[in-house]
Amino acid sequence: MSLRVGEAATAPDFPAAAKRSIANTQLRHNVRHATDVIRAKRARVVGEVPDWEQLRDAGSAIKAHTLQHLDFYLTQFETACTNAGGRVHWARDADEANDIIVGIIRQHRQSEVIKVKTMTSDETRLNVALEEAGITPYETDLADLIVQLGEDKPSHIVVPALHRNKMEIRQLFLEKMKLAELGDQAEDLADAARRYLREKFLRVKVGISGANFAVAETGSVCVVESEGNGRMCVTLPEVMISLVGIEKVIPRFQDLEVFLQLLPRSATGERMNPYNSIWTGVSPGDGPQEFHVVLLDNGRTSVLADVQSRETLSCIRCGACLNACPVYRQTGGHAYGSVYGGPIGAILTPQLQSMEHSQSLPYASSLCGACYEVCPVKINIPEILVHLRGKVVDRGDAVLSERITMRMAAFALSNSSRLAAAQKLVRIGQWPFERDGKVENPPGMLKAWTEARDLPAVPKQSFREWWSKRQERKPA
Ligand code: SF4
Repeated sequence: MSLRVGEAATAPDFPAAAKRSIANTQLRHNVRHATDVIRAKRARVVGEVPDWEQLRDAGSAIKAHTLQHLDFYLTQFETACTNAGGRVHWARDADEANDIIVGIIRQHRQSEVIKVKTMTSDETRLNVALEEAGITPYETDLADLIVQLGEDKPSHIVVPALHRNKMEIRQLFLEKMKLAELGDQAEDLADAARRYLREKFLRVKVGISGANFAVAETGSVCVVESEGNGRMCVTLPEVMISLVGIEKVIPRFQDLEVFLQLLPRSATGERMNPYNSIWTGVSPGDGPQEFHVVLLDNGRTSVLADVQSRETLSCIRCGACLNACPVYRQTGGHAYGSVYGGPIGAILTPQLQSMEHSQSLPYASSLCGACYEVCPVKINIPEILVHLRGKVVDRGDAVLSERITMRMAAFALSNSSRLAAAQKLVRIGQWPFERDGKVENPPGMLKAWTEARDLPAVPKQSFREWWSKRQERKPA
Protein backbone atom coordinates (compact mmCIF):
# COMPACT_ATOMS: atom_id res chain seq x y z
CA MET A 1 0.00 0.00 0.00
CA SER A 2 1.44 3.41 -0.93
CA LEU A 3 0.22 6.19 1.34
CA ARG A 4 0.82 9.58 -0.19
CA VAL A 5 0.15 13.15 0.86
CA GLY A 6 1.21 15.13 -2.18
CA GLU A 7 5.00 15.08 -2.08
CA ALA A 8 5.38 15.15 1.69
CA ALA A 9 7.49 11.99 1.82
CA THR A 10 10.27 13.60 -0.20
CA ALA A 11 9.92 17.18 1.06
CA PRO A 12 12.73 18.78 3.08
CA ASP A 13 12.32 19.21 6.84
CA PHE A 14 10.20 22.17 7.91
CA PRO A 15 13.05 24.29 9.39
CA ALA A 16 15.07 24.11 6.14
CA ALA A 17 12.04 24.82 3.94
CA ALA A 18 10.82 27.61 6.25
CA LYS A 19 14.22 29.31 6.08
CA ARG A 20 13.90 29.50 2.29
CA SER A 21 10.32 30.83 2.46
CA ILE A 22 11.17 33.46 5.04
CA ALA A 23 13.97 34.78 2.80
CA ASN A 24 11.35 35.53 0.10
CA THR A 25 10.03 38.93 1.18
CA GLN A 26 7.50 39.19 -1.66
CA LEU A 27 5.94 35.86 -0.65
CA ARG A 28 5.80 36.92 3.01
CA HIS A 29 4.15 40.18 2.04
CA ASN A 30 1.56 38.40 -0.14
CA VAL A 31 0.74 35.81 2.54
CA ARG A 32 0.55 38.39 5.34
CA HIS A 33 -1.70 40.69 3.28
CA ALA A 34 -4.08 37.92 2.15
CA THR A 35 -4.42 36.32 5.60
CA ASP A 36 -5.00 39.75 7.21
CA VAL A 37 -7.87 40.43 4.80
CA ILE A 38 -9.51 37.01 5.35
CA ARG A 39 -9.07 37.16 9.14
CA ALA A 40 -10.71 40.57 9.35
CA LYS A 41 -13.67 39.41 7.22
CA ARG A 42 -14.03 36.23 9.28
CA ALA A 43 -14.00 38.12 12.59
CA ARG A 44 -16.69 40.49 11.28
CA VAL A 45 -19.15 37.81 10.11
CA VAL A 46 -18.52 35.46 13.05
CA GLY A 47 -19.28 38.38 15.38
CA GLU A 48 -22.72 38.69 13.78
CA VAL A 49 -23.81 35.21 14.92
CA PRO A 50 -25.06 35.24 18.52
CA ASP A 51 -24.93 31.44 18.87
CA TRP A 52 -21.55 30.94 17.19
CA GLU A 53 -20.15 28.98 20.16
CA GLN A 54 -23.20 26.69 20.19
CA LEU A 55 -22.77 26.16 16.44
CA ARG A 56 -19.13 25.19 17.02
CA ASP A 57 -20.22 22.76 19.74
CA ALA A 58 -22.82 21.26 17.41
CA GLY A 59 -20.30 20.88 14.55
CA SER A 60 -17.80 19.28 16.90
CA ALA A 61 -20.41 16.89 18.36
CA ILE A 62 -21.70 15.77 14.93
CA LYS A 63 -18.16 15.06 13.74
CA ALA A 64 -17.20 13.19 16.95
CA HIS A 65 -20.34 11.05 16.73
CA THR A 66 -19.75 10.30 13.03
CA LEU A 67 -16.13 9.27 13.60
CA GLN A 68 -17.21 6.94 16.39
CA HIS A 69 -19.64 5.19 14.03
CA LEU A 70 -17.82 5.77 10.76
CA ASP A 71 -18.18 2.19 9.53
CA PHE A 72 -21.96 2.42 9.89
CA TYR A 73 -22.31 5.79 8.15
CA LEU A 74 -19.99 4.84 5.28
CA THR A 75 -22.02 1.74 4.45
CA GLN A 76 -25.23 3.73 4.84
CA PHE A 77 -23.83 6.26 2.36
CA GLU A 78 -22.86 3.48 -0.07
CA THR A 79 -26.35 1.97 0.03
CA ALA A 80 -28.16 5.30 -0.38
CA CYS A 81 -25.87 6.48 -3.19
CA THR A 82 -26.20 3.16 -5.04
CA ASN A 83 -29.99 3.20 -4.66
CA ALA A 84 -30.02 6.69 -6.21
CA GLY A 85 -28.13 5.44 -9.27
CA GLY A 86 -24.54 6.25 -8.23
CA ARG A 87 -21.62 3.80 -8.13
CA VAL A 88 -19.37 3.66 -5.08
CA HIS A 89 -15.73 2.53 -5.23
CA TRP A 90 -13.45 1.99 -2.23
CA ALA A 91 -9.78 3.01 -2.46
CA ARG A 92 -7.25 1.97 0.18
CA ASP A 93 -4.61 4.45 -0.96
CA ALA A 94 -3.70 7.14 -3.47
CA ASP A 95 -2.65 4.76 -6.26
CA GLU A 96 -5.82 2.74 -5.99
CA ALA A 97 -7.97 5.90 -6.15
CA ASN A 98 -6.06 7.25 -9.15
CA ASP A 99 -6.28 3.89 -10.96
CA ILE A 100 -10.06 3.74 -10.44
CA ILE A 101 -10.51 7.26 -11.82
CA VAL A 102 -8.24 6.69 -14.81
CA GLY A 103 -10.11 3.43 -15.49
CA ILE A 104 -13.51 5.17 -15.56
CA ILE A 105 -12.24 7.88 -17.93
CA ARG A 106 -10.70 5.27 -20.23
CA GLN A 107 -13.94 3.28 -20.31
CA HIS A 108 -15.53 6.35 -21.82
CA ARG A 109 -12.61 6.87 -24.24
CA GLN A 110 -12.05 10.42 -23.05
CA SER A 111 -8.73 12.28 -22.93
CA GLU A 112 -9.75 15.43 -21.00
CA VAL A 113 -11.42 16.18 -17.66
CA ILE A 114 -12.62 19.35 -15.94
CA LYS A 115 -12.01 19.58 -12.22
CA VAL A 116 -13.63 21.37 -9.31
CA LYS A 117 -11.21 22.38 -6.57
CA THR A 118 -10.29 19.25 -4.61
CA MET A 119 -7.43 19.07 -2.14
CA THR A 120 -7.97 15.32 -1.92
CA SER A 121 -6.91 14.96 -5.56
CA ASP A 122 -3.78 17.01 -4.76
CA GLU A 123 -3.17 14.58 -1.89
CA THR A 124 -3.28 11.60 -4.28
CA ARG A 125 -1.43 13.55 -7.02
CA LEU A 126 -4.26 12.73 -9.38
CA ASN A 127 -3.20 15.25 -12.04
CA VAL A 128 0.17 13.53 -12.41
CA ALA A 129 -1.54 10.13 -12.74
CA LEU A 130 -3.97 11.53 -15.33
CA GLU A 131 -1.21 13.10 -17.40
CA GLU A 132 0.80 9.87 -17.28
CA ALA A 133 -2.29 8.12 -18.66
CA GLY A 134 -2.57 10.67 -21.51
CA ILE A 135 -5.53 12.50 -19.96
CA THR A 136 -5.44 16.32 -19.68
CA PRO A 137 -6.93 17.74 -16.46
CA TYR A 138 -8.24 21.32 -16.49
CA GLU A 139 -8.50 23.02 -13.11
CA THR A 140 -11.50 25.34 -13.16
CA ASP A 141 -11.26 27.03 -9.75
CA LEU A 142 -9.51 30.36 -10.40
CA ALA A 143 -6.84 29.85 -7.74
CA ASP A 144 -6.23 26.24 -8.80
CA LEU A 145 -6.00 27.38 -12.42
CA ILE A 146 -3.32 29.90 -11.41
CA VAL A 147 -1.40 27.13 -9.61
CA GLN A 148 -1.76 24.77 -12.59
CA LEU A 149 -0.73 27.32 -15.23
CA GLY A 150 2.22 28.41 -13.08
CA GLU A 151 3.31 24.76 -12.58
CA ASP A 152 3.25 25.73 -8.93
CA LYS A 153 2.03 24.08 -5.73
CA PRO A 154 -0.95 25.12 -3.59
CA SER A 155 0.02 27.12 -0.52
CA HIS A 156 -3.34 27.35 1.27
CA ILE A 157 -6.18 24.83 1.54
CA VAL A 158 -8.89 27.35 0.63
CA VAL A 159 -6.94 29.91 -1.41
CA PRO A 160 -4.26 27.79 -3.11
CA ALA A 161 -2.65 30.76 -4.95
CA LEU A 162 -2.61 33.00 -1.87
CA HIS A 163 1.15 33.47 -2.27
CA ARG A 164 0.67 35.17 -5.67
CA ASN A 165 -0.26 38.81 -6.12
CA LYS A 166 -2.32 40.41 -8.91
CA MET A 167 0.62 41.50 -11.07
CA GLU A 168 2.21 38.04 -10.93
CA ILE A 169 -1.10 36.47 -11.99
CA ARG A 170 -1.54 38.99 -14.83
CA GLN A 171 1.91 38.12 -16.18
CA LEU A 172 1.16 34.39 -15.91
CA PHE A 173 -2.15 34.73 -17.81
CA LEU A 174 -0.53 36.83 -20.55
CA GLU A 175 2.08 34.12 -21.14
CA LYS A 176 0.07 30.92 -20.65
CA MET A 177 -3.20 32.03 -22.25
CA LYS A 178 -1.25 33.70 -25.05
CA LEU A 179 -3.08 37.01 -24.63
CA ALA A 180 -1.96 40.18 -26.42
CA GLU A 181 -3.60 42.52 -23.89
CA LEU A 182 -4.78 42.18 -20.31
CA GLY A 183 -5.78 44.79 -17.72
CA ASP A 184 -4.49 44.64 -14.17
CA GLN A 185 -7.76 44.78 -12.25
CA ALA A 186 -9.22 41.70 -10.51
CA GLU A 187 -12.20 41.81 -12.91
CA ASP A 188 -9.85 41.70 -15.94
CA LEU A 189 -8.14 38.58 -14.59
CA ALA A 190 -11.45 36.90 -13.74
CA ASP A 191 -12.75 37.73 -17.21
CA ALA A 192 -9.67 36.20 -18.88
CA ALA A 193 -10.09 33.02 -16.82
CA ARG A 194 -13.80 32.89 -17.67
CA ARG A 195 -13.13 33.07 -21.40
CA TYR A 196 -10.34 30.49 -21.15
CA LEU A 197 -12.54 28.02 -19.23
CA ARG A 198 -15.92 28.53 -20.88
CA GLU A 199 -15.29 26.40 -23.97
CA LYS A 200 -13.81 23.64 -21.78
CA PHE A 201 -16.98 23.53 -19.69
CA LEU A 202 -19.00 23.12 -22.86
CA ARG A 203 -16.72 20.56 -24.54
CA VAL A 204 -15.29 18.20 -21.91
CA LYS A 205 -17.44 15.17 -21.05
CA VAL A 206 -16.00 14.08 -17.68
CA GLY A 207 -16.04 16.14 -14.47
CA ILE A 208 -14.07 15.45 -11.30
CA SER A 209 -14.87 16.92 -7.90
CA GLY A 210 -14.00 16.42 -4.29
CA ALA A 211 -16.64 16.82 -1.60
CA ASN A 212 -17.10 19.13 1.32
CA PHE A 213 -19.67 16.74 2.74
CA ALA A 214 -21.18 13.35 1.87
CA VAL A 215 -24.58 12.76 3.45
CA ALA A 216 -25.04 9.17 4.65
CA GLU A 217 -28.86 9.08 4.88
CA THR A 218 -29.42 10.31 1.31
CA GLY A 219 -26.19 9.35 -0.48
CA SER A 220 -25.78 13.00 -1.53
CA VAL A 221 -22.50 14.80 -2.21
CA CYS A 222 -22.13 18.51 -1.40
CA VAL A 223 -19.63 20.99 -2.81
CA VAL A 224 -19.57 24.66 -1.82
CA GLU A 225 -17.76 27.36 -3.79
CA SER A 226 -17.81 31.01 -4.75
CA GLU A 227 -17.20 31.16 -8.48
CA GLY A 228 -19.83 28.96 -10.13
CA ASN A 229 -17.17 26.85 -11.81
CA GLY A 230 -18.08 23.97 -9.49
CA ARG A 231 -21.74 24.19 -10.49
CA MET A 232 -20.67 23.95 -14.17
CA CYS A 233 -18.44 20.94 -13.48
CA VAL A 234 -21.11 18.98 -11.60
CA THR A 235 -23.95 19.70 -14.05
CA LEU A 236 -22.55 19.95 -17.60
CA PRO A 237 -20.44 16.77 -18.12
CA GLU A 238 -21.92 13.40 -19.04
CA VAL A 239 -19.88 11.56 -16.41
CA MET A 240 -19.19 12.80 -12.88
CA ILE A 241 -16.54 11.39 -10.53
CA SER A 242 -16.26 12.55 -6.90
CA LEU A 243 -13.13 11.71 -4.92
CA VAL A 244 -14.17 11.75 -1.26
CA GLY A 245 -12.06 11.18 1.86
CA ILE A 246 -13.93 8.80 4.17
CA GLU A 247 -14.00 11.44 6.92
CA LYS A 248 -16.23 13.71 4.81
CA VAL A 249 -19.37 11.70 5.57
CA ILE A 250 -21.99 13.24 7.87
CA PRO A 251 -25.08 11.36 9.12
CA ARG A 252 -28.09 13.47 8.12
CA PHE A 253 -29.11 16.02 5.53
CA GLN A 254 -30.17 18.26 8.41
CA ASP A 255 -26.55 18.34 9.66
CA LEU A 256 -25.69 20.50 6.65
CA GLU A 257 -27.56 23.31 8.42
CA VAL A 258 -24.73 23.49 10.96
CA PHE A 259 -21.80 23.08 8.57
CA LEU A 260 -23.13 25.41 5.88
CA GLN A 261 -23.08 28.16 8.51
CA LEU A 262 -19.70 27.29 10.01
CA LEU A 263 -17.73 26.71 6.82
CA PRO A 264 -18.20 29.88 4.72
CA ARG A 265 -17.82 32.22 7.68
CA SER A 266 -14.62 30.48 8.80
CA ALA A 267 -13.15 29.97 5.33
CA THR A 268 -13.64 33.18 3.39
CA GLY A 269 -15.59 35.42 5.75
CA GLU A 270 -18.80 35.00 3.73
CA ARG A 271 -22.21 34.62 5.37
CA MET A 272 -22.96 31.80 2.96
CA ASN A 273 -21.30 30.40 -0.12
CA PRO A 274 -22.69 31.81 -3.37
CA TYR A 275 -22.90 28.26 -4.80
CA ASN A 276 -23.95 25.26 -2.71
CA SER A 277 -24.26 22.24 -5.04
CA ILE A 278 -25.81 19.08 -3.63
CA TRP A 279 -26.50 16.13 -5.90
CA THR A 280 -27.83 12.63 -5.30
CA GLY A 281 -27.18 9.81 -7.77
CA VAL A 282 -28.42 10.49 -11.29
CA SER A 283 -31.66 12.00 -12.63
CA PRO A 284 -32.73 11.06 -16.17
CA GLY A 285 -32.36 14.04 -18.52
CA ASP A 286 -30.81 16.27 -15.86
CA GLY A 287 -27.07 16.59 -15.27
CA PRO A 288 -24.46 13.82 -15.60
CA GLN A 289 -26.00 10.46 -16.46
CA GLU A 290 -23.22 8.48 -14.79
CA PHE A 291 -22.01 9.24 -11.28
CA HIS A 292 -19.11 7.62 -9.43
CA VAL A 293 -17.93 8.19 -5.86
CA VAL A 294 -14.44 7.05 -4.92
CA LEU A 295 -14.20 6.74 -1.12
CA LEU A 296 -10.56 7.22 -0.13
CA ASP A 297 -8.81 5.91 2.98
CA ASN A 298 -5.09 6.72 2.33
CA GLY A 299 -4.12 6.51 6.01
CA ARG A 300 -7.35 7.86 7.50
CA THR A 301 -8.30 4.62 9.29
CA SER A 302 -4.97 4.64 11.14
CA VAL A 303 -5.69 8.22 12.27
CA LEU A 304 -9.11 7.01 13.41
CA ALA A 305 -7.49 4.25 15.47
CA ASP A 306 -5.64 6.74 17.69
CA VAL A 307 -8.26 8.09 20.12
CA GLN A 308 -5.98 10.94 21.24
CA SER A 309 -5.66 12.44 17.76
CA ARG A 310 -8.76 11.06 16.03
CA GLU A 311 -10.46 14.46 16.03
CA THR A 312 -7.99 15.52 13.32
CA LEU A 313 -10.50 13.85 10.97
CA SER A 314 -13.22 16.32 12.06
CA CYS A 315 -11.56 19.00 9.92
CA ILE A 316 -13.86 20.68 7.40
CA ARG A 317 -10.89 22.31 5.59
CA CYS A 318 -11.92 25.88 6.23
CA GLY A 319 -8.36 27.18 6.51
CA ALA A 320 -9.11 29.45 9.48
CA CYS A 321 -6.28 27.88 11.50
CA LEU A 322 -3.79 28.74 8.73
CA ASN A 323 -4.84 32.39 8.66
CA ALA A 324 -4.55 32.64 12.45
CA CYS A 325 -1.23 30.80 12.83
CA PRO A 326 1.79 33.07 13.49
CA VAL A 327 4.09 30.44 11.96
CA TYR A 328 2.07 29.96 8.75
CA ARG A 329 1.73 33.73 8.38
CA GLN A 330 5.51 34.01 8.18
CA THR A 331 6.34 30.96 6.09
CA GLY A 332 3.30 30.40 3.84
CA GLY A 333 2.18 26.91 2.90
CA HIS A 334 5.04 25.57 0.77
CA ALA A 335 7.33 25.19 3.79
CA TYR A 336 5.09 22.39 5.10
CA GLY A 337 6.06 20.21 2.14
CA SER A 338 2.52 18.89 1.83
CA VAL A 339 -0.74 19.89 0.18
CA TYR A 340 -2.01 20.47 3.72
CA GLY A 341 -0.17 23.42 5.25
CA GLY A 342 -0.51 25.34 8.50
CA PRO A 343 -1.64 23.86 11.81
CA ILE A 344 -3.99 21.28 10.26
CA GLY A 345 -1.20 20.16 7.92
CA ALA A 346 1.19 19.91 10.87
CA ILE A 347 -1.08 17.32 12.49
CA LEU A 348 -2.68 15.68 9.45
CA THR A 349 0.30 14.99 7.18
CA PRO A 350 2.46 13.07 9.69
CA GLN A 351 -0.52 10.98 10.77
CA LEU A 352 -1.66 10.12 7.25
CA GLN A 353 1.82 8.76 6.71
CA SER A 354 1.84 6.80 9.99
CA MET A 355 4.60 9.13 11.29
CA GLU A 356 6.93 7.72 8.64
CA HIS A 357 7.77 11.18 7.25
CA SER A 358 7.30 14.83 8.19
CA GLN A 359 8.38 14.36 11.81
CA SER A 360 9.44 18.01 11.89
CA LEU A 361 5.86 19.22 11.27
CA PRO A 362 4.50 18.74 14.83
CA TYR A 363 7.24 21.18 15.90
CA ALA A 364 6.16 23.82 13.33
CA SER A 365 4.08 25.60 15.95
CA SER A 366 4.51 27.92 18.91
CA LEU A 367 1.55 26.16 20.65
CA CYS A 368 -0.04 29.58 21.13
CA GLY A 369 -3.53 28.12 20.67
CA ALA A 370 -4.74 30.62 18.02
CA CYS A 371 -5.70 27.70 15.75
CA TYR A 372 -7.88 26.12 18.44
CA GLU A 373 -9.67 29.40 19.09
CA VAL A 374 -10.79 29.85 15.49
CA CYS A 375 -11.45 26.23 14.53
CA PRO A 376 -15.19 25.94 13.74
CA VAL A 377 -15.29 22.31 14.89
CA LYS A 378 -13.09 22.90 17.96
CA ILE A 379 -10.20 20.59 17.04
CA ASN A 380 -7.67 20.88 19.86
CA ILE A 381 -4.69 21.22 17.55
CA PRO A 382 -2.14 22.22 20.26
CA GLU A 383 -2.96 19.09 22.27
CA ILE A 384 -2.59 16.88 19.19
CA LEU A 385 0.72 18.57 18.31
CA VAL A 386 2.06 17.71 21.76
CA HIS A 387 0.76 14.14 21.41
CA LEU A 388 2.53 13.78 18.04
CA ARG A 389 5.75 15.26 19.45
CA GLY A 390 5.59 12.48 22.05
CA LYS A 391 5.27 9.94 19.24
CA VAL A 392 8.30 11.41 17.47
CA VAL A 393 10.32 11.02 20.68
CA ASP A 394 9.00 7.48 21.29
CA ARG A 395 10.13 6.49 17.81
CA GLY A 396 13.63 7.84 18.57
CA ASP A 397 13.26 10.38 15.76
CA ALA A 398 13.76 13.54 17.83
CA VAL A 399 16.70 15.68 16.67
CA LEU A 400 20.07 14.75 18.21
CA SER A 401 20.53 18.03 20.13
CA GLU A 402 17.09 17.63 21.74
CA ARG A 403 17.77 14.02 22.67
CA ILE A 404 21.11 14.95 24.29
CA THR A 405 19.56 17.91 26.15
CA MET A 406 16.69 15.79 27.49
CA ARG A 407 19.06 13.01 28.64
CA MET A 408 21.22 15.56 30.46
CA ALA A 409 18.13 17.13 32.04
CA ALA A 410 16.86 13.71 33.16
CA PHE A 411 20.28 12.90 34.65
CA ALA A 412 20.43 16.19 36.60
CA LEU A 413 16.79 16.33 37.70
CA SER A 414 16.63 12.77 39.03
CA ASN A 415 19.02 13.44 41.94
CA SER A 416 19.11 16.48 44.27
CA SER A 417 22.93 16.59 44.59
CA ARG A 418 23.29 16.47 40.82
CA LEU A 419 20.69 19.23 40.45
CA ALA A 420 22.56 21.42 42.98
CA ALA A 421 25.85 20.81 41.12
CA ALA A 422 24.20 21.64 37.78
CA GLN A 423 22.76 24.88 39.20
CA LYS A 424 26.21 25.91 40.43
CA LEU A 425 27.74 25.15 37.02
CA VAL A 426 25.05 27.16 35.20
CA ARG A 427 25.51 30.11 37.59
CA ILE A 428 29.22 30.20 36.74
CA GLY A 429 28.54 29.77 33.00
CA GLN A 430 25.85 32.46 32.82
CA TRP A 431 27.80 35.07 34.79
CA PRO A 432 29.37 36.90 31.77
CA PHE A 433 25.95 37.14 30.04
CA GLU A 434 23.71 38.04 32.98
CA ARG A 435 21.90 41.41 32.87
CA ASP A 436 19.03 42.37 35.23
CA GLY A 437 18.12 38.77 36.04
CA LYS A 438 18.16 37.68 32.38
CA VAL A 439 20.72 35.91 30.20
CA GLU A 440 21.52 38.03 27.15
CA ASN A 441 23.54 37.20 24.05
CA PRO A 442 24.81 33.77 25.16
CA PRO A 443 26.94 31.75 22.71
CA GLY A 444 25.82 28.84 20.50
CA MET A 445 22.22 27.78 19.86
CA LEU A 446 20.95 29.78 22.84
CA LYS A 447 21.89 33.03 21.07
CA ALA A 448 19.17 32.68 18.44
CA TRP A 449 16.69 31.47 21.05
CA THR A 450 17.18 34.53 23.27
CA GLU A 451 16.94 36.98 20.38
CA ALA A 452 13.16 36.80 20.54
CA ARG A 453 12.59 35.50 24.08
CA ASP A 454 13.63 36.26 27.67
CA LEU A 455 15.78 33.62 29.32
CA PRO A 456 15.64 34.15 33.11
CA ALA A 457 19.01 33.65 34.81
CA VAL A 458 19.35 30.85 37.38
CA PRO A 459 18.92 32.70 40.72
CA LYS A 460 21.91 33.18 43.01
CA GLN A 461 20.28 31.00 45.62
CA SER A 462 18.01 28.01 45.05
CA PHE A 463 14.95 27.33 47.20
CA ARG A 464 16.70 24.36 48.83
CA GLU A 465 19.73 26.50 49.71
CA TRP A 466 17.49 29.23 51.13
CA TRP A 467 15.51 26.69 53.13
CA SER A 468 18.48 24.90 54.66
CA LYS A 469 20.06 28.25 55.63
CA ARG A 470 16.79 29.27 57.25
CA GLN A 471 16.67 26.02 59.21
CA GLU A 472 20.27 26.56 60.38
CA ARG A 473 19.39 30.06 61.66
CA LYS A 474 16.36 28.85 63.60
CA PRO A 475 16.94 28.80 67.39
CA ALA A 476 17.08 25.26 68.78
S1 SF4 B 1 -8.44 22.31 11.68
FE1 SF4 B 1 -10.29 23.55 12.09
S2 SF4 B 1 -9.66 25.63 11.52
FE2 SF4 B 1 -8.13 24.25 10.59
S3 SF4 B 1 -8.86 23.86 8.53
FE3 SF4 B 1 -9.69 22.22 9.82
S4 SF4 B 1 -11.71 22.92 10.47
FE4 SF4 B 1 -10.62 24.72 9.70
